[in-house]
Amino acid sequence: MSEDLHTLKDHYELAIIGCGPAGLSAALNAKIRNRDFVLLGSEFCSPKLSKAPQVDNWLGFPEIGGEELRQRFLDHVKEKDIPITLFKVTNIYPGPPYTLIGKEKSFEADTIIIATGVSAGKLLSGEAELLGRGVGYCATCDGPLYKDKKVAIISYNQEGEDEANYMANICSKVYYIPYYCEILKLDPRVEIKKSKAKKITGDQKVEQLDLGEEQLIVDGVFILRDTLPAEQLVSGLEMEEAAIKVNHKLETSMPGLYAAGDCTGQPYQLIKAAGEGGTAALQAVKYLDSLKSADPDEVVSIH
Ligand SMILES: Cc1cc2nc3c(=O)[nH]c(=O)nc-3n(C[C@H](O)[C@H](O)[C@H](O)COP(=O)(O)OP(=O)(O)OC[C@H]3O[C@@H](n4cnc5c(N)ncnc54)[C@H](O)[C@@H]3O)c2cc1C
Repeated sequence: MSEDLHTLKDHYELAIIGCGPAGLSAALNAKIRNRDFVLLGSEFCSPKLSKAPQVDNWLGFPEIGGEELRQRFLDHVKEKDIPITLFKVTNIYPGPPYTLIGKEKSFEADTIIIATGVSAGKLLSGEAELLGRGVGYCATCDGPLYKDKKVAIISYNQEGEDEANYMANICSKVYYIPYYCEILKLDPRVEIKKSKAKKITGDQKVEQLDLGEEQLIVDGVFILRDTLPAEQLVSGLEMEEAAIKVNHKLETSMPGLYAAGDCTGQPYQLIKAAGEGGTAALQAVKYLDSLKSADPDEVVSIH
């Protein structure tokens, strides 16, 4: 059911980012409406749902286990012939059409639904201020910029090991700070630091990573979370108490850009995520129709 990024086209009507309950529900509705869309996700869809020991509030399935429900969701989209493309979006450039950037590819979509869940933990001190000036979320994307330089990679999961190994071929020094237990396949040139990062400092660009008991002198710091903070994914997106600000149509502050699920704020519940995903898809379809019927010289707005 998973497809790799080589199958991606250069342009879609709709891109759905995230394969948790919100993204899957959005995809199902886009499929039923027969739209040209792509569903982008991670290798393991919704680690959160799989961790729920027992779900008591999913209508019609009392006391179902989180993992069983997750499998049912995935079976449902498979049965509808909806592939999930393994593609982590690291940046979105304004549109429409929007440009979605990932590790090895970028492509366009007229409308987007962000269904990326919520990221664990707060932003690191200095992270937002130095973003794009040494702070990044995809080491391999920026690799060549750090030739013969020193970088630190903070990773919440094993995916970071591939990035660190790649950077070891380019950089003069790579520090690796894992925020998880089991390290699988790290290049011996990468130096592991089992500490928690306190802050990133630098005047115009990154100069140092503070690990408390130790200061690392580095040119770049990459932070690899399961989910990127939404405001870092799309620059200028209006937020409200760390959640993406949406109205009842799931419209964000940008035309053609919708958000659904945990990323729009509390309550963090499956039924809300799935409901919002479906609604966002239907609104995105309306928006696409309005683009088609609009006078090409007119500015389109459904706000
Ligand atoms: C232990 C636990 C128990 C829970 N129990 C319940 C319960 O009993 N009842 C209930 O209603 N809710 C429960 N929840 C909450 C529920 O799991 C969430 O509300 C729900 O999973 C949110 O769905 P979502 O689609 O918004 O996000 P998620 O399920 O977090 O899915 C987001 C997906 O997007 C992917 N993604 C993120 N960023 C990107 C990117 N940049 N590019 C591509 N893909 C990306 C992620 O890898 C992930 O697969 C529980 C949560 C936990 C942690």
